Amino acid sequence: MTIRIGNGFDAHQIKKGDGMILGGVYIACEYSIIAHSDGDIISHSVCDALLGAASLGDIGKFFPNTDEFKNISGAEMIKIVLNELKSKNYEIINIDITYIGEIPKIEKHRSEILQNLANMLKIDSEKISCKATTTDKMGFMGKKEGISCLTNVLIEKPAK
Ligand SMILES: [Zn+2]
Repeated sequence: MTIRIGNGFDAHQIKKGDGMILGGVYIACEYSIIAHSDGDIISHSVCDALLGAASLGDIGKFFPNTDEFKNISGAEMIKIVLNELKSKNYEIINIDITYIGEIPKIEKHRSEILQNLANMLKIDSEKISCKATTTDKMGFMGKKEGISCLTNVLIEKPAK
């Protein structure tokens, strides 16, 4: 059996708005995300971590800033990345997500995000953890200029 770890990161700018999609879940708040795609940093960092674990390359290689991928949803991106993993015979062991930002607070939406990610990734929600933290008012996240997300994943491939 082969077990591999991957780490992922994503950040986007935010502006005054009427909500955003995180982990495929719409969260109403006074800000929205500025991005070529839907800006779903949670889904994007999960994709980045999965690609990293399988040594498949940058997220930008799969989803360049072209018209083809304009406004692509995090859910569609996860679907494409999952197909890449399946083609290489990898299964997900677990995923640990750390969302970093002042706004929105995701606490109330955590279980919905976990369930939605589990559905998108076709795994049990108990295999996913989604934590939240802030930068104690420091930097772009502390000043509400942007939000970011870190993700670690473990994947496995059965022995032939
Ligand atoms: Zn992104």
